[in-house]
Amino acid sequence: MSNPLSDKYDSCLITERRDLASELWTIRVRPEAPFAFRPGQYATLGVDLDGRVLERPYSIVSAPEEAELEFFIEMIPGGALTPHLHRLGAGDHLLMRKRPKGIFLRQGLDPDRAHLFLATVTGIAPFASILRQLSRSFGQGGGPHRIMLVQGASYPHEFGYQQEMIDLETRLSGFRYVPTVSRPWDEPSWQGETGRAEDVLRKYSDEFGIGPRTGVVYLCGHPGMIATARAVMRRRGLDDSEILEEQYWPEGKAPTGAA
Ligand SMILES: Cc1cc2nc3c(=O)[nH]c(=O)nc-3n(C[C@H](O)[C@H](O)[C@H](O)COP(=O)(O)OP(=O)(O)OC[C@H]3O[C@@H](n4cnc5c(N)ncnc54)[C@H](O)[C@@H]3O)c2cc1C
Repeated sequence: MSNPLSDKYDSCLITERRDLASELWTIRVRPEAPFAFRPGQYATLGVDLDGRVLERPYSIVSAPEEAELEFFIEMIPGGALTPHLHRLGAGDHLLMRKRPKGIFLRQGLDPDRAHLFLATVTGIAPFASILRQLSRSFGQGGGPHRIMLVQGASYPHEFGYQQEMIDLETRLSGFRYVPTVSRPWDEPSWQGETGRAEDVLRKYSDEFGIGPRTGVVYLCGHPGMIATARAVMRRRGLDDSEILEEQYWPEGKAPTGAA
């Protein structure tokens, strides 16, 4: 007789956990069966609560060619699932729907345009996936793509992939990474860009030549950032095919209740 859980879900072993802050961490997982996906897609992760699966979508950080899947997760106080996920470490298992979903980044990167990726904290995930894939495909110094990644966070310790992105800048000649912090007064040693991602968008769009038919903007994460950035880019003349978005939750929706 078929098991309704194993029909829909694979069990994944958590092989590694890296904590960046008390409520922000990355995990690497090994699914029990091969899991094919494209950069920009997400997996649906869950936990089994007495036969009822509590699940949510999580963008995949890893490149499709990696043996394990990687995720970057923020715990939401009062959230339904994240407090459960937060308790899991290396050696524990979670459930994952057998198929990936999502159409963000589906159209691939046009080598004739500049690409501006804008992320809030964990919204870097799909961009990290495609950048890892590009660096594997093109190797040292290669790649026809012009890409700028602007990642916003309140504090520098939330960037998560900062060193990896700095290393990628040296490997992918057309790539530039700009981390920006919105609470610099709490971090006097921070030397980098300041302001929210959407606040510095105009400056970097100018610098990077993002305009109608010359650039594409990709927005991922916080709904407020996405709404503001979309409005800025529309005022600049970009049409909807040039502004792509992956919104992590609906504007104004509160967490659904403590676990
Ligand atoms: C396509 C997609 C990809 C996603 N990828 C990721 C990812 O890579 N990493 C990740 O951590 N989350 C990601 N999310 C969000 C994730 O699916 C959950 O919504 C989140 O983990 C909260 O789940 P929860 O059950 O604990 O909270 P719930 O009880 O479901 O409450 C949800 C509410 O929590 C708040 N909330 C959710 N996420 C955040 C956040 N990051 N910052 C502030 N408030 C928030 C919002 O008010 C939201 O309405 C993604 C969502 C989508 C739709």
